[in-house]
Amino acid sequence: MAFMKKHDPVTAFDAIEATPVSIDILVEILTYRRSARSEGDEALIDNLIMPLDPTVDAYGNLFVSIGKAPSVAFTAHTDTVHRDTAINPRLTQTLSIENGLIELADPGKGDVLGADDGTGIWVLLNLIEAGVEGLYCFFRDEEIGRLGSEWSIKHEPERYTGIDMMLSFDRMGTTDIITHQMGDRCCSELFATHIADAIDRQCEPDPTGSFTDSCSFMDTISECTNICVGYYDQHSSLESQDLTWVAYLVNRLIAMEWNAVPAERDPTEVQMPMLDGYDMADMDLSDILYMYPDEAAYILETFMGMTQADMVDAVSELHTVESGNALLSPGANLT
Ligand SMILES: [Zn+2]
Repeated sequence: MAFMKKHDPVTAFDAIEATPVSIDILVEILTYRRSARSEGDEALIDNLIMPLDPTVDAYGNLFVSIGKAPSVAFTAHTDTVHRDTAINPRLTQTLSIENGLIELADPGKGDVLGADDGTGIWVLLNLIEAGVEGLYCFFRDEEIGRLGSEWSIKHEPERYTGIDMMLSFDRMGTTDIITHQMGDRCCSELFATHIADAIDRQCEPDPTGSFTDSCSFMDTISECTNICVGYYDQHSSLESQDLTWVAYLVNRLIAMEWNAVPAERDPTEVQMPMLDGYDMADMDLSDILYMYPDEAAYILETFMGMTQADMVDAVSELHTVESGNALLSPGANLT
């Protein structure tokens, strides 16, 4: 059976930069099969997160805090979309690395690489090792409904006091800094552009995010985003990870002046959704009516009880008042 990739990812750079935590640790993370609450999920936590002496909440999310009162939170999720193999359970899987790209050695076994979001975990380990101030959140059960982060904000919102920006590392590819999740704005353009500048404009603000853990905090934390970490074809056996990209990203994040990053979005303000790629906050009412005449007619008729005749009357009356004559008075022939 031949396996076809959706696209053949080319690595962003020619070499893998040296990082505070060795790239071998990322390889180790990806070796575990880690569906939510599986033996592999627990093994990753025991071997790589518990040595950091984290706080563990009642749900099982793990937190490491660096600095007295950090204003930035960094997140990744521990679980993957591996399917449990009840008949032949395996803790680990075999990988292949070539030219800075890592993939499954045998995609025929139905596994996934798990760079979504093992790579995010490795990014956090690096920032911790480098001593970057922040609240580091290792959330559980993202792939089965974002359960860990939802639990955390619902039961322990005080944990996030003083946090005004949250960066998740759970976006595919090497081009996006997510500004919208599920169509709603999650961070300001100012914030996203600032981050883009710090990564030398290698990636840009992008409104097409679905959701990840930072989505759970959009009503609480000013700037919430998701940063591309360089995996492709996630949730499939053809998933791959560009090691050159994530090593580059980690070093730029470590070099960043986090105190200078602006947080301006008001999380309590009603957020305008994106529609067909347009930011509706920039449009006035007549723009929207022009773009969506059928929808506008449906809303007027169904929700406001306005008939076609009512509309003719209302428009005619307006014209009569404005022009001072009765040319378009009610009952005039408009055709
Ligand atoms: Zn993910």
